Amino acid sequence: MKLAIYPGSFDPVTKGHLNIIERAASIFDQLIVCVMVNADKKPMFSRQEREDMIRKVTGHLPNVVVDASDELLAEYARQKGSCVIVKGLRAVSDFEHEFQMALINRNLNPQLDTMFLTAEHEYMFLSSSIVRELGSYSVSLEDYIPAEIIEEVTDRIQSVHERRK
Ligand code: ADP
Repeated sequence: MKLAIYPGSFDPVTKGHLNIIERAASIFDQLIVCVMVNADKKPMFSRQEREDMIRKVTGHLPNVVVDASDELLAEYARQKGSCVIVKGLRAVSDFEHEFQMALINRNLNPQLDTMFLTAEHEYMFLSSSIVRELGSYSVSLEDYIPAEIIEEVTDRIQSVHERRK
């Protein structure tokens, strides 16, 4: 069975992420979307909320499993056995960092390969941080966020923004 892991912060999951998930799920037998929890970062959505939102928007993909981890990605992948890491690339600026991460992961776990999927052109500009920023100005998020989670994401961004005023 060909297994892949798609790691990220998904704070929150966007249409750009979902596009990569759908394409990777059609290439591999099983895809684990893993919310990587970083103790140094303060996300807008909790680990559980991010997992639940990804589950909501991937309900139509039977070979997608959602998980979360605070381990090193290379270690998480080792425990899953033979697998490939999937990453999305939006621009050259993503490449440098992702290339470094791929090499580090391979150094830590020589069996681990990283596969890059290029972003769909309509999502090249899209990131979770742009979504959080637009939402704080009350811009409609329908072009950027899957319909199933728009209300939840909009409400959270606005309540955080109100509190900071
Ligand atoms: P973000 O940069 O949006 O905060 P994450 O840390 O959650 O995203 O990213 C997880 C993975 O998804 C990374 O490989 C990132 O390059 C990729 N990704 C993020 N947004 C997009 C997009 N719009 N199109 C393609 N890949 C993307």
